[in-house]
Amino acid sequence: MIQRKAYKFRLQPSPDQAQQLHVIAGHCRFLWNKVLGMNLERLESKQPLMWYHEVDYWSKHWKRSEEYGFLREAPAQCLQQKLMDLSKAFKDCFDKSQPLKRLPRFKRRGQSDGFRFPEPKHIHIDNRRVKLPKLGWIRFKKSRAIEGTLKNATITRSAGKWYVSFQVATIVETPIHSAKSIVGIDLGVASFAALSTGQIIDSIHAFKAWRDKLATAQRRLAKKKKFSENWKKQKRKIQAIHSKIANVRRDFQHKASTALSKSHAMVVVEALKITNMSASAKGSINSPGKNVKAKSDLNRSILDQAWGELKRQLAYKLEWLGGELIEVPAAYTSQTCAACRHVDKVSRPSQELFCCTHCGHTDNADVNAAKNILEAGKRAVFRFCQEDREPERIAHAVLEHRKRRPTQQKRDNDFFGDFKRQGMPC
Ligand SMILES: [Zn+2]
Repeated sequence: MIQRKAYKFRLQPSPDQAQQLHVIAGHCRFLWNKVLGMNLERLESKQPLMWYHEVDYWSKHWKRSEEYGFLREAPAQCLQQKLMDLSKAFKDCFDKSQPLKRLPRFKRRGQSDGFRFPEPKHIHIDNRRVKLPKLGWIRFKKSRAIEGTLKNATITRSAGKWYVSFQVATIVETPIHSAKSIVGIDLGVASFAALSTGQIIDSIHAFKAWRDKLATAQRRLAKKKKFSENWKKQKRKIQAIHSKIANVRRDFQHKASTALSKSHAMVVVEALKITNMSASAKGSINSPGKNVKAKSDLNRSILDQAWGELKRQLAYKLEWLGGELIEVPAAYTSQTCAACRHVDKVSRPSQELFCCTHCGHTDNADVNAAKNILEAGKRAVFRFCQEDREPERIAHAVLEHRKRRPTQQKRDNDFFGDFKRQGMPC
């Protein structure tokens, strides 16, 4: 089994290098936005999209032109990588098997600034510094040893600091999970998650404290004169709170996913409900990405993102330990009685309580849903099993599921393989 890992370190660029990092990130962003704009126009007028090879061809023209000659300041491989990322984002957005249905968005300065060096032969790591094309040697805070074969390096910026993340691959033997159990999880709104075992993982209260701080800071910002020194200072404060909240959330998710993946060989979750690309979510050319969405929708999408991230972590952590993550379609899991399978939406009188109208079974509503998710998962994975006892069935089901599941690597290869087969479009 190939195990991919990333090591992220804080970069310590010189002032000149920091300036250069800004320039490269800016050029990458410019190219992304330009091509995204062209493609959105094409979508609007029902023309076929421009995929990677076509835009790569055009970007080479642009680099030779006077108007866009500045693009030559950025490493060619970083620009190409951005174009590939954009093509992939479009592909994912139209891929029916993927849960996230959203058009790629315009990037703004200071938001998700970053770029990738995809060629390991152009990246040299020497103790506490890394050599990158056009940037030279940059120091970084090496907090741990890097093990494995280097695959690529990604530069990102967050809350005013630059980071480098090295992706490495190592070949390890496929492990066998020590646990022989299967669990269903319902990802909720009131509590973060409920397990079919009856356990409930609370969403953290630390969030709330930081959210209140954020609200206060935002009110203060609103009172200040736009773009004044004080306004900018306040803006930076808000950024720092955002980054703190993100850290708290990441830490919480990692702890939850680690605990779950260690205690169960199979974890069953609901597949994300696929949101349609409605007119408002899609935006228009004149106001791209500016969704006129209700606040609840927005909160919902933040939750969806948090769950998407939790699932991603569960998927790879389980894989590393020899387990599997199972996704089942979300249908009536909250309205079905786990005891008698009677479906009735009246059975859920409140957010917390489930009380079956048929057999009188009562339970925590989220736990009841988690039990239904577990049942759906068992139906899906035990189809191919002959074994009678559950531990053997689970061990067998893990192997079967692993065989049937396409790996991310395969999905990516299929995607870029399509380009190769099609050849140059122009
Ligand atoms: Zn019932």
